Amino acid sequence: MPRSFTYSALVLRVRPSGESNREAWFLTAEEGILKATVFGGPKSRLRAYIAPYHQGTLWLYRDPVRDAGKVTDFDVQSWRPGIRERYERANTASSLIETMLASHAGGGSWTEAMRLAGQALDALDYADPAYCVRILVHFLWNWIDVLGLRQDILRCPACAGESGVLLFNSQEGTLRCPACAGTPAPLIPICLGARRWLTAAGDMNPALLNRYTLDGASLLQAKTLVTGLMSCILGKRLESWDSGG
Ligand SMILES: [Zn+2]
Repeated sequence: MPRSFTYSALVLRVRPSGESNREAWFLTAEEGILKATVFGGPKSRLRAYIAPYHQGTLWLYRDPVRDAGKVTDFDVQSWRPGIRERYERANTASSLIETMLASHAGGGSWTEAMRLAGQALDALDYADPAYCVRILVHFLWNWIDVLGLRQDILRCPACAGESGVLLFNSQEGTLRCPACAGTPAPLIPICLGARRWLTAAGDMNPALLNRYTLDGASLLQAKTLVTGLMSCILGKRLESWDSGG
C-alpha cells in the first residue's frame, strides 16, 4: 500500500520524463540510490528545487513493493550555487555524481557516502578551479574506502617493505615494490609523496586540502593511482575523470 516516506537526500541526476514530468535520482542516507518522478510543469516550485547537487529533506509517496515513487516535497538545505559558476567545479561535481551512480552509492555505507559526497560538493561550491582535481582525487580515494577496498599504500602490500617508489599495475589494480613487481605488464611508478598525501589527506575535510602541499607530478601520480584502482573496481574507466575536472 503506498505511503509517505522521509529521507535525507542529495539530488544526483534529473531527466525529462513525458511532456512535463521529470525523473530524479537521489542518494539517500536511508536507502542508498532512489529514483522517483517529479510531477509538474516549468513553473512548478519542485522543479526548481530538485536539481543536481541540492541536498535536503525529501518526501516521497511510494509503494514499497513496486518501488515506484513520486516526490511530494523537497526542503533544500544546501543549494551550492557556486558549483555552476565555474566550469571546473561543475565538471568535477558531475564526475563525482557519475562515480556514485556507477558504484551504486557504495552498496551499503550510505550515511558515510552521504557525508563524503556532501563534503566534496560543499568544497567544490567555493573551490579555486586549480584545486578541483585534488577534490576529485580525494573523493575517489575516500570512495574506495566506502566500497571497503582501501589498502595501505605506504608499504609494499606483498612484502610490507618500505619503498620510495611502488609500481602500479593498472590492469590488476595492484601496487608492488620493484623487487616484488616482477611482471611484464606496464607498470606505473607511484612515488612516496603521492602516497603520503593520499594517506594524510584521506580523512581531512576536502575544503582544507590546500593546507597540504602537493607538487604537480605527485598529484598526477595520485590521480593515476586512484582512477586506476577505481577502474578495476568498476570494471570500466569513467571518461569524466579525465575531462579536465
Ligand atoms: Zn615488495
